[in-house]
Amino acid sequence: MLKLENIHAGYGPTTILQNVSLEVKEGEIVTIVGANGAGKTTTLRTIAGLIKPRQGSISFCGEDITRLRGDQVVDRGITLIPEGRQLFGDMTVRENLLIGAFRAAARPNHERRLDEVLSIFPRVRERLDQAAASLSGGEQQMVAIARGMMAQPKILMFDEPSLGLAPIVVSQVFDIVRQIAGTGTTVLIVEQNVYTTLKVADRGYVLENGQIVLEGQSEALLNDDHIRQAYLGI
Ligand code: ATP
Repeated sequence: MLKLENIHAGYGPTTILQNVSLEVKEGEIVTIVGANGAGKTTTLRTIAGLIKPRQGSISFCGEDITRLRGDQVVDRGITLIPEGRQLFGDMTVRENLLIGAFRAAARPNHERRLDEVLSIFPRVRERLDQAAASLSGGEQQMVAIARGMMAQPKILMFDEPSLGLAPIVVSQVFDIVRQIAGTGTTVLIVEQNVYTTLKVADRGYVLENGQIVLEGQSEALLNDDHIRQAYLGI
C-alpha cells in the first residue's frame, strides 16, 4: 500500500535519512522504532509531503506520491497525527475535530463522520464543547487521534502517541490504535516506547542515525539481542 524506496531526506544542507526503504501493507500495523533524533519524525514528515526527499521514491496505492504537496497527500488518504498533538487550544474540541474533515472526501458527511468517530472516543464526546486546552494530556491525545480519523484516512500515521502520558493512559492509547486497525484503517506508528509498540504492531523497522538497521515481525524483534540490549534494557 505504502512503499518508500531508497529515500534520502533532510533539512537544508543536513542529510538525516539515508537510503530508507520500507513498506506498509494494507491492514497492517507497522512501527518504526528508534532513539531520540534517529529520524522517525523526519520519515513521517517526508511521507506526508512536508519534506521533499532528495533521492528515492514514495508510492501509495500504486501511485507515485514523491513530489505531492502535503494537502495532496492528505487527499490520497494519508493522515499524520503529529507529535505533541498540536490542537488549537482556544477552540472547542468539536471545532478541532471538524478541522480534521477538510479532506474533500470527508467534507460532505462530516456530521455523520463525527458521530462515527466519537463512538470510538466516548470521553471525547462528553467534552465536545470544552476548549481543547482544558483537557488532560491523555484526552488531548484522544482528540488528536479523533481529528485524524475525521479525514477518513486509508492510513493513519502516529508520531509518538505515548509521549508524556502516564502508563495507564499509554495503554488506553494503544487500545485505541488496535480498535482503529480493527476498523480496516492501516496504521504506521513511530515510537520510542519500543516494547509497548512492538506488542501492538505486526511488523517493525528499527531506525538508527537515519538508516534502517533491522526489520522484521514484531515477535522476532522483541526477541532480537540488539533490540533487547539497546532498547529494552534486558
Ligand atoms: P524524536 O523522538 O526526538 O522526535 P526523531 O527520531 O523523530 O526523534 P527527528 O525529529 O526526525 O528524530 O530528527 C532527526 C534529526 O533531524 C535530529 O538530529 C534533529 O536535530 C534534526 N532536525 C529535526 N528537525 C529539524 C529542522 N527543522 N532543521 C534542522 N534539523 C532538524
